[in-house]
Amino acid sequence: METKKRVAYFYNNEIGNYNYGKLHLMNPKRISMTHSLIVGYGVYKDLDVYTTREATKEEIMQFHDQDYVEYLSNYVSSTKIDFLRKNGCTAPIIDEEAKNDVEKKRQYGIDVQADCPGFDGVYTFSQLSTGGSIDAAHLIINNAADVAINWGGGLHHAKKGEAYGFCYVNDIVICILELLKVFPRVLYIDIDVHHGDGVEEAFFTTNRVMTVSFHEFGEDFFPGTGGLNSSGEGLGKNYAVNVPLRPGMDDESYKQLFKNVMNKVMEVFRPDVVVFQTGADSLANDKIGHFNLSIRGHGECLTYMLRFNVPVVVLGGGGYTIQNVSRCWAYETGLLVKKNLNGPIPVDDPFFHLYEKQNMLHVPIQQVENKNSKEDLNKIQEEVFKQLKEVDAAPSIPFHNVPKAFQYDDDEYFEENEQDQHHDFSGNTYNFNKLNDYINGYQTMEVEQNEEVGVYRKQPLLIEKNSSRFNHI
Ligand SMILES: [Zn+2]
Repeated sequence: METKKRVAYFYNNEIGNYNYGKLHLMNPKRISMTHSLIVGYGVYKDLDVYTTREATKEEIMQFHDQDYVEYLSNYVSSTKIDFLRKNGCTAPIIDEEAKNDVEKKRQYGIDVQADCPGFDGVYTFSQLSTGGSIDAAHLIINNAADVAINWGGGLHHAKKGEAYGFCYVNDIVICILELLKVFPRVLYIDIDVHHGDGVEEAFFTTNRVMTVSFHEFGEDFFPGTGGLNSSGEGLGKNYAVNVPLRPGMDDESYKQLFKNVMNKVMEVFRPDVVVFQTGADSLANDKIGHFNLSIRGHGECLTYMLRFNVPVVVLGGGGYTIQNVSRCWAYETGLLVKKNLNGPIPVDDPFFHLYEKQNMLHVPIQQVENKNSKEDLNKIQEEVFKQLKEVDAAPSIPFHNVPKAFQYDDDEYFEENEQDQHHDFSGNTYNFNKLNDYINGYQTMEVEQNEEVGVYRKQPLLIEKNSSRFNHI
């Protein structure tokens, strides 16, 4: 029987106020809508509620390139510059030449094909998203929570020096880096409809992080990576697990596959902590994704991981039918505190008008053909199991005496671990620099290696939108 978990929840009212642009499908308002339902259904009473802070530049640069972070942090939109100029502001508020440098924009992925528009506050928005994920990690590290939620996080596509797929700062990678300072093994699970490419890429060469991504794949679906054969490199070989799926995945087949794979992963990898990206674009009727999951099916995958009694950081992610995103994440917050939310949306919800067409928490899903045959799914599972068998056969990562407090004493920690001759990092005696390489140098996969393993990009996320799927709610 599962025991009641201590569940922490991070939120900042500010995050819902940012705007990617009128026509953009990513709408941060969904975070505020989720919060509103969490309050409306009374779930907050069972949560330890924390205000999300802005991550510092130093924290963000644990993963991202300094030049990129500088560019992002100085970003001011043309509209704002025009406004200030029109109102008599003559101060050199920004180096306009640098801002409009097309080469730089291309390099950093800003404004390219409208996937990652530059908008006012883009950096603060990213800081808030990341601050919650870092502090969630710290709560877990300090054993102050069993589950820590940040719905504002989960932006899994951002690259080290480039915005990508609606994501500017990869809060997940930074969260995992924090956890790696203390925990030997971190498991990353991603049920967003898109491949968790940014996180996979960051930890592609390490065996301390296993990434497991279930996603739609094929026919130019974004980002085009995450095939079965992409499984990690070097020490990370077999530690990147991909479950590529065709459109139409339904609850039954998805849940079965998820549980089978995760059981095996838990058995062979034995993580100390789980980071769970719960992108809600894998739900039925999403404006971009083509899966057919119900909110209950999606939620069952999340709560399935609680049975292993390993702490979990729960992060948001994609999700473009925003009413379903808020329904799903509020429902899942409820599940984490053992509340099975149901019934109508509270009438006093400030966003009630947005649910008018369908005012229940759970909405019916449409009958859509599941293009994944039983045979296909069995084959995928077989391949994944084959890969995981290799992990099982690999030497373990036996860090002993891992300190449980975040403020550990570096010298003491590393002296202790230097005694351990069985580590699996390099074949040499473990030392501080080696760990540092791991923590800060996970980007060791160079582009040519990526090409070698077939990592390439396809169309931007927005192109996938299908106008016939726009008016569900
Ligand atoms: Zn997505």
